[in-house]
Amino acid sequence: MEPRIAAKPQQFEESVIRLMTRLVNAVGGINLAQGFPDFPAPQALKDAACAAIQADVNQYAITWGAPTLRAAIAAKYSPLLGRDLDPEQEITVVCGATEAMLAAILAVVDPGDEVVVFEPFYENYGPDTVLSGARPRYVALEPPDWRFDPDALAAAFGPRTRAIIINTPHNPTGKVFTRAELEQIAALCQRWNAVAITDEIYEHLVYEGEHVRIATLPGMWERTITISGLSKTYSVTGWRLGYLLAPARLTVPIRRVHDFLTVGAAAPLQEGAAVALRFGPEYYADLLAGYAERRAVLLAGLQAAGFHVYPPAGAYYIMTDITPLGGTDDVAFVRQMIKQVGVAAVPGSSFYADRARGRTQVRFAFPKRIETLRAACERLARLPARLATV
Ligand code: GLN
Repeated sequence: MEPRIAAKPQQFEESVIRLMTRLVNAVGGINLAQGFPDFPAPQALKDAACAAIQADVNQYAITWGAPTLRAAIAAKYSPLLGRDLDPEQEITVVCGATEAMLAAILAVVDPGDEVVVFEPFYENYGPDTVLSGARPRYVALEPPDWRFDPDALAAAFGPRTRAIIINTPHNPTGKVFTRAELEQIAALCQRWNAVAITDEIYEHLVYEGEHVRIATLPGMWERTITISGLSKTYSVTGWRLGYLLAPARLTVPIRRVHDFLTVGAAAPLQEGAAVALRFGPEYYADLLAGYAERRAVLLAGLQAAGFHVYPPAGAYYIMTDITPLGGTDDVAFVRQMIKQVGVAAVPGSSFYADRARGRTQVRFAFPKRIETLRAACERLARLPARLATV
């Protein structure tokens, strides 16, 4: 007899994003699927982490984060949130925003409770709701501008709603939620006593509009869990460092969950992170300028290759529609693209619970050196001819 496997992991599959990474690596192609930089992280950050290892900062940090890092997070975010953050009670350091999201959901949601999720959504949020036993209620973001219908949002809330997951700037669409949209969400959270769990990992990558933090809206600090991390802002996706900012009442259960999921994030890397969190405004301006250039290069290349593009207002992905290239099945299309020209992207259906809604969409990531993006664009220019001969 074969050993039994549990019901929950049968409800989701391996990450499509990481599957695409493996497929493109197998052919030595260019990976515009998984969003991670192919350029170096800041020297001062690396030096500080190396120095911490040499100084034997090699044992467990405090479960909820090294004091140096929590102090640096408080210093950076207190002005952004317009309140004095208390590192002792309101900040938790975890192993990446991925753990942060799961810890946040497990902290506030019981099995059977409902969680509102905008669709398309970053693929983790689906399995997160399964693991926590939450019942997702999806609200559609409609192309081309990825707005939602306020009535549909209101209808998704009810007495069982415990939380809403927000991601701004948004993966995969690049949508930057407007103040008016966040005010609507805030009003519903207050009406139904729900928590806003907001993933703001792309907070520094905003090309159009402004990054509004729902935690700063009136009455929202008390019911908001803000998530961010080091991966995107400091180009260290493999360090797995994230953090949550939340009022003490919500931080207590978050810390309990985190403690028994992972105990703590890597201690020496936290010392490096504490240095990075104190970088001045010029660091963030340079980061944004670099990404704006990468965005422009890839947008032009995708358009030239015949994709319909949805220019992103933020984050580092471009959603496209493959209909002009004759694409009707996103998964088959990306597999062909990897095979024919050696460029990987993510099939749009992996961002939808109702997979059919993403069938003609494909997401490209652009946290890459300009030469990597130019090489990808040259390959993509050959795509229409190659597809025609398949
Ligand atoms: N957030 C990144 C993306 O969407 C990386 C995904 C992952 O592998 N965790 O591509």
